[in-house]
Amino acid sequence: MQTGRFQGDDGPALALRVDSHWINLTKAFADYERERGQLDPAPLNTVERLLELDGCSRSFHDRIRAYCDHSGRIPAYLIDETPDWLAPVHPSKIVAVGRNYRAHAEELGNAVPEQPILFVKTPNTIVGPGAAIAVDPAWGRVDHEGEVAVLIGKRASRVRLEQAKDHIAGYTLLNDVTARDMQNEAKTKGLPWFCAKNLDTFCPIGPTITFAENFEWPPALELQVTVNDALRQFGNTSQFIFPLGDLVAYISHYITLEAGDLIATGTPQGVGPLKPGDTVTVRCPELGELRNPVVDRTTPGYPNSPRP
Ligand code: MG
Repeated sequence: MQTGRFQGDDGPALALRVDSHWINLTKAFADYERERGQLDPAPLNTVERLLELDGCSRSFHDRIRAYCDHSGRIPAYLIDETPDWLAPVHPSKIVAVGRNYRAHAEELGNAVPEQPILFVKTPNTIVGPGAAIAVDPAWGRVDHEGEVAVLIGKRASRVRLEQAKDHIAGYTLLNDVTARDMQNEAKTKGLPWFCAKNLDTFCPIGPTITFAENFEWPPALELQVTVNDALRQFGNTSQFIFPLGDLVAYISHYITLEAGDLIATGTPQGVGPLKPGDTVTVRCPELGELRNPVVDRTTPGYPNSPRP
């Protein structure tokens, strides 16, 4: 069971995986609502709206599927198998976890933490699958950090460990792109490394959302990162220092997580530099492939170039 946001003929729309096909959920849901007597249904074209309907669930999926079967309209709702996926969500915040894999902490010369190390990634960093990661020679080394991201399905505030999983709607992939030289310089000076993590385009997410109900708890998701098809990172979420439930309980003890927020759960060992012309791909068998090119933003003609 998966959903995704894509560029449809009439603007951004949601897709739903039904058996081995993707259907246009925005269209199917509008017809479903009309059949139930809702003459002017509000459009269902964001994952945030889907979460309000408890739509990342088996019961919702089964209801839409039953409607499609009974109406015989599946052929009318079918979409391309590889649509232009957009960033699936636009969260109010992404709470990111540093050093959640032992081998990654060691590769950067850091101690294994005794409690989760948290930082935030801001909405300006978000781009979708296929969109460019913009780097600047002035920033020095910029690294990929492939991660599994957790989609919060309902508000989480001071949740207990045993309730944590009820607040997770699904999973997607995320690249916590990091200006490593800027981060190290800030650390050396005892300053926050906020900027190094929050440069524009430094958080590709996607391609789609796989429902949490697809997995046993806690899910063991295999993660792989390649750059130009060379393997750089490999890990499995079963290797977390702080498991998923602990993360949700710990974060929500201090910070209220809203429906649609993401938790970036940390990156395995093998982080490495990106340069313009590279393509970086984060992969997970159950979550798909998040592929992004790297461009130099000082290239003449680049739309956000700060230089003439
Ligand atoms: Mg990270």
